[in-house]
Amino acid sequence: MDNLMHEIANCRLCADRFAQTQTQHSPRPVAWFSPKARILIAGQAPGMRVHQSGRPFTDPSGDRLRDWMGIGSDIFYDTSRIAIVPMAFCFPGYDAKGADLPPPAICAKTWRDRVLNTLPNIRLTLLVGGHAMKWHLGKTGVTDIVSNWNDHLPHVIPLPHPSWRNTAWIKKHPWFEADLLPALRSRVQEVLDDN
Ligand code: SF4
Repeated sequence: MDNLMHEIANCRLCADRFAQTQTQHSPRPVAWFSPKARILIAGQAPGMRVHQSGRPFTDPSGDRLRDWMGIGSDIFYDTSRIAIVPMAFCFPGYDAKGADLPPPAICAKTWRDRVLNTLPNIRLTLLVGGHAMKWHLGKTGVTDIVSNWNDHLPHVIPLPHPSWRNTAWIKKHPWFEADLLPALRSRVQEVLDDN
């Protein structure tokens, strides 16, 4: 486990790719997990703020995700309860429109199975965004998958990415806040309370 963390922290597989982006940044893997974790947050990839802080979801998306889950930072960052394992551990850079580039596929290919194999106690997986849904469910189409969130209970709950870019999506689908979020908070609490 410590070896794996060390290997990830020192990974430079995407160094050339990142050097060619507008920000010309170096890899800075942000991995946050321990074998005791019971909830897995399968996210997308760090944004620039997380790249700078070295801690996952230290941005408005994180504030929104914690609100969705009904928990504070103390529980969110407690690796004995929650593992945060995105589809790529490093900030991928920006595209020409200023949006984050997709997570480099090589990251999940290289690390994901190895990391998930160290997490035997996961009882609830939150699939945050389309990349995580594709990998974990083998399906695409965020709206379709999230609107059928009941199909995946009790072990998986699919969510749109909590980015401000999805605010219009959330407004357009009122069942998300009315039905899915109460069920999410209830299931998160149930898993956290079940020792
Ligand atoms: S994104 Fe993943 S594969 Fe690429 S450098 Fe970072 S840790 Fe390595």
